[in-house]
Amino acid sequence: MIAIREANAALNSWRLIDCTLYVTLEPCVMCSGAIINARVDRVVFGARDPKAGGTKSLYEILTDDRLNHQVEIQEGVLADEAGQQLKTFFKATRKRHKRERQEKSRRALNQD
Ligand SMILES: [Zn+2]
Repeated sequence: MIAIREANAALNSWRLIDCTLYVTLEPCVMCSGAIINARVDRVVFGARDPKAGGTKSLYEILTDDRLNHQVEIQEGVLADEAGQQLKTFFKATRKRHKRERQEKSRRALNQD
């Protein structure tokens, strides 16, 4: 969503014609909708998202011909590297959330 917004601003247009979006993870349903609405031509992604993928895994929004725009998809590019990068990211995120929860409960205990 951020990349689409920044590309809109850079091109000064809501249409991203002739643009390719590169992402590590398969776009979700929300992002797939934004990609369609922005008229992105092509999406390249690394790893599929079996729990929330809106492009191949759960839905195939980008190639649904009932919509007014279809997107060319290339998947599996650097899939192992993308998968590893995502695992590392989510592991660090879980660790940070755990630390924040512990910090919060410690502060709550100190207030009593
Ligand atoms: Zn998304």
